[in-house]
Amino acid sequence: MNFSKLEMLAQKLIKQPSVYPRNNSCHEIIIDYLQKLNFNIELMQFDDTFNIWAYHGDKKQQQQHTLLFLGHTDVVDPGNLQSWNYPPFSGIIHDNALHGRGAVDMKGALAAMLVASDNFINTHPNYQGRLAFLITSDEEGTGINGTTKVVESLTIRNEHIDYCIVGEPSSQHQIGDVIKNGRRGSLIGKLTIYGSQGHVAYPQFSKNPIHLVIPTLSEFLNTTWDQDKNIFFPPTTMQITNIYTNNNVNNNIIPHTITLDFNFRFNNKSSIEDIKKCIKKILEYHSLTYNIDWKLSAEPYFSNPGKLTNVVVNAIKYYQKLEPCLETTGGTSDGRFIAKMGAEVIELGARNHTIHKVNEYIDLADLKLLSSIYQKIIEDLLLYRQ
Ligand SMILES: [Zn+2]
Repeated sequence: MNFSKLEMLAQKLIKQPSVYPRNNSCHEIIIDYLQKLNFNIELMQFDDTFNIWAYHGDKKQQQQHTLLFLGHTDVVDPGNLQSWNYPPFSGIIHDNALHGRGAVDMKGALAAMLVASDNFINTHPNYQGRLAFLITSDEEGTGINGTTKVVESLTIRNEHIDYCIVGEPSSQHQIGDVIKNGRRGSLIGKLTIYGSQGHVAYPQFSKNPIHLVIPTLSEFLNTTWDQDKNIFFPPTTMQITNIYTNNNVNNNIIPHTITLDFNFRFNNKSSIEDIKKCIKKILEYHSLTYNIDWKLSAEPYFSNPGKLTNVVVNAIKYYQKLEPCLETTGGTSDGRFIAKMGAEVIELGARNHTIHKVNEYIDLADLKLLSSIYQKIIEDLLLYRQ
């Protein structure tokens, strides 16, 4: 069987076991590909993290635009290797599907973007505007030295991005049925409630923090965290992720403390301060002695639908004969950093049914379709039409 350039590139990337924080040769493969297309390429390294910033074409006039493709080469751990039908970094093509960790999130989409750009540049060498890539190797990890650092550098240089396509796997049942223009933020909390330790046979001489926390817990679960209905976002939610005491000795001790770990996913209408105030009010109402540590892990973002959204919707309609749903669901994405630069952002990628799971794969037909849709988006944005 003869494999296409697209399949071979996706396969080559999957064969790199670039589980965060490793990147293996992913950046070399991508740089090599972009070099052949005459991109201006900059490898931006922050500590051990490799990021690629590259652009092609130029922007001579105000009405010419920069379209950025945003992606990442790092993948999550494959987990139990015995559970995989094919080794996760073999990039095996079987039954018209490409198998391996990262096939969907998001080496398949990366290959689709690169090949779409390649086809576009070769077909329309005199297009107007700029085609750019920002590819990090720290999206699945801490994100400290990834897209955020590159955006800081680009902002200092007054780089302007008009439109950004993020290759995160947005699709559900068919390519393009769901696209995203925002994500909720993530706020982490660690709450410790203090009681007083004692013998279980003499509860009158101690204060059991487990008993104290129960009514508070049910109040947390019954609280509505949003003040107003938000038509663009799912509601702000709280999930308790862990509860533990300092008692790991035996069962005749009333513990001194109980700790709760929790995570808020909050939309753009919820303020962090309001969430914190609300938690404080509940704790004070129950007269608890407590300590709470907060950590903001991501701000929410929302990108107002404009020209890019229209172009993406039309490209999907052209190939798929369906109207995509515009959503803001799912975890956080690096799209938030590009939205901060003032760009219109749309996330469009592979079907997400196998992301971060064992036996991740992408159908070859999906891979090809994604690349065709990306190419049409580039054409519709960067070809000057009379
Ligand atoms: Zn991803």
